[in-house]
Amino acid sequence: MYTAPHRRLNPLTGQWVLVSPHRTARPWQGQVEDTVPEHRPRYDPACYLCPGNDRAGGAHTPDYPGTYVFDNDFAALKPDTPPDRVDEEGLLVAESERGICRVVCFSPRHDLTLGQMQAIDIRRVVDTWTDQYTELGALDWVNHVLIFENRGAMMGASNPHPHGQIWANQRLPTEAAQELRRQQLHTARKGCLLCDYLEAELKDGTRIVCQNDNFVVLVPFWAVWPFETLVLPRRHSGAFPDLTGAERDGLADILGRLTRKYDNLFAVTFPYSMGFHQRPTSGAEHPEWHLHGHFYPPLLRSATVRKFMVGYELLAQPQRDITPESAAQRLRDLPEGP
Ligand SMILES: [Zn+2]
Ligand SMILES: [Zn+2]
Ligand SMILES: [Zn+2]
Repeated sequence: MYTAPHRRLNPLTGQWVLVSPHRTARPWQGQVEDTVPEHRPRYDPACYLCPGNDRAGGAHTPDYPGTYVFDNDFAALKPDTPPDRVDEEGLLVAESERGICRVVCFSPRHDLTLGQMQAIDIRRVVDTWTDQYTELGALDWVNHVLIFENRGAMMGASNPHPHGQIWANQRLPTEAAQELRRQQLHTARKGCLLCDYLEAELKDGTRIVCQNDNFVVLVPFWAVWPFETLVLPRRHSGAFPDLTGAERDGLADILGRLTRKYDNLFAVTFPYSMGFHQRPTSGAEHPEWHLHGHFYPPLLRSATVRKFMVGYELLAQPQRDITPESAAQRLRDLPEGP
């Protein structure tokens, strides 16, 4: 049935994606983005994330050797927002929201990306993420910690220096709330949703991209973005602090390999939004939550042709042409070297 138009269910969110495999041969006359040749120096005196440089508002980035974390100078959320609520007939509803937004520099080197870093240095990033999740999640009013990276101007990254963000906040964001509910439902009926899903994918094999002893990367059956991937620990774990040292090494290894595959796909530093969904930090155990990472890259068929979520997708439901199986095969066949 996968050669005819069909829709696939995302069991993590309950949403459907329309797949139209027969349309891959249609002529493309879409937007072509300008590519700027990349010649980045190791240190950029104008970059506020490079060691020793000044930031907005008089802040200063110190001379750091590995990773560096600071509160975002232009934070979208603030920790001291007082509680407030509006509800007019259930139509005009608003709630105040407390939060902390941080920036994580992955490396002092301005010219690197995750995929160009050594595994031992990516491991340091994983350890930093782990410490931040633990520290922020321990605050009694913080119930969710999102660790993510926007890479490339196409995804809205304002600075090419390798860095990501952490937003910790009071209430579960929409995505996390949906995934929590779906994982709870599955666990109540059978077992862990993503443990069961990973087992099925490993048995099938067609959507696996790469793997090591601890982690598996696959194009999910319900992928919306052309080369979307899901990063899954083999062992049931709910958050970074649950991972052993060997598993964190495994995560560093798989992140390096995956991002190098992406860079090799269209011979360009591949833009993406990626992030890790970890169990809520409400204090409850959340045994149903299975830690995972999502990579959402916008590119469709070259360094300059991207997918847009417009028209039918904006007004009805997401849709894709190339199948997740063919995307997985292309990624699987790519080299993982620099
Ligand atoms: Zn820099
Ligand atoms: Zn699991
Ligand atoms: Zn998720």
